[in-house]
Amino acid sequence: MPAAFINDASTPRTSGCAAVLAEVSPEDSCSSRPANWRDFVAHTIYRTGMLPVLRGISRRYQIRTSGRNRSFRVSRVSGPSFAILCYHRVGTEGIPYYCTLEPSVFEMQMRYLREHFRVVSLGSLCEEIRNPSGSGQAVAVTFDDGYSDLYTHALPILRKYQIPATVYLIADCVRTGEVAWYDRIFLALQIAPGPTLSLPFLPGEFKLGSPEQRTAAATRIVSILRRMPAPVKNKVCSALEAQFALPAEKLAGKMLSWAQIREMRAAGIDFGAHTLSHPVLSQLSDHEVTRELADSKRFLEEGLGEPVLDLAYPFGRPEDYGARTPAIAAQCGYRSAVTTTRGLNAPGADLHRLRRVQLGEQESEASFGFHLHLEFLRGADPPEHLADAGGPLELCREEYQSGRGGQ
Ligand SMILES: [Zn+2]
Repeated sequence: MPAAFINDASTPRTSGCAAVLAEVSPEDSCSSRPANWRDFVAHTIYRTGMLPVLRGISRRYQIRTSGRNRSFRVSRVSGPSFAILCYHRVGTEGIPYYCTLEPSVFEMQMRYLREHFRVVSLGSLCEEIRNPSGSGQAVAVTFDDGYSDLYTHALPILRKYQIPATVYLIADCVRTGEVAWYDRIFLALQIAPGPTLSLPFLPGEFKLGSPEQRTAAATRIVSILRRMPAPVKNKVCSALEAQFALPAEKLAGKMLSWAQIREMRAAGIDFGAHTLSHPVLSQLSDHEVTRELADSKRFLEEGLGEPVLDLAYPFGRPEDYGARTPAIAAQCGYRSAVTTTRGLNAPGADLHRLRRVQLGEQESEASFGFHLHLEFLRGADPPEHLADAGGPLELCREEYQSGRGGQ
């Protein structure tokens, strides 16, 4: 096998968390995205010292678009909006291959939050959604999956800026120390010999001629598998790993251990559940969904010695978690459940369909501040709209790409 494909340094990088295998569509990747008008505007606003003006406007006004011609309507802010930032890893090496975030960029983002926003814990944010305090806008920080570089790179920064955060753990990964199925696929595609790869149940050949093609092939395979029934997905994963053994050193120590989790908890980090095995919940029966949600909750509670009240749906789009899962989450005793549907949350929002914002790929203070203030300028959708957004295909990637809606 070409050694270059095993070398982490040769792996094409995406800045921020940017692939369909996790909670973001590949189109959201910024590393290959040319500078667009938003980046130009962001840096122009920053260079001209107008960012504080935008910040002030976003606290007082909302700009909503409506209709086919996307007409604008400006109104005064009538109530608080709540942003939940969604991150995955903080680091650049090895698994997860779909995602990188330079610790220095993460620090810039946390410093900006500390200086310009009211940063609250997820629990406080949920309480404010239920009973608005009149304190205005607030931001909470969350991490999905529980990669171990959160302990190495994120924890010191979170402590430095006193940022409360919630980490959603995949119970099986904590129990076994092994990475999730999609991370194994990405590693397999990094080391697979030959210029092409064929897999059972999947049409055609996947090109592996370059590091970029390998990452694209892995993204494509995971994208297909997440929509297949679990037994088929498992067969494809087994067939893939039967062709070549995954190097143990590439898999070791990538997920948070109990020792790291407990140290982070002692430092004030909160933990939520991210199911047992990171499945596509909409592909499971209600009984299986209940098992994924209830057993992961119980496992983490036993390990932490305290209630686990918050949940993140794997992949996070409505078509991924399914229409019935929010009710099951509530029945299992979860206080909240976050999605990857883009947007802010208004008072009264459905706590088991909370929206989030992903800005990890914004590498400059100009773009991070601009995009976050822009989210607040757009404002939160009213609760009744959120309640209508639970159907399996009512929100889609195209809506996300257009600037509103889910992914
Ligand atoms: Zn996840």
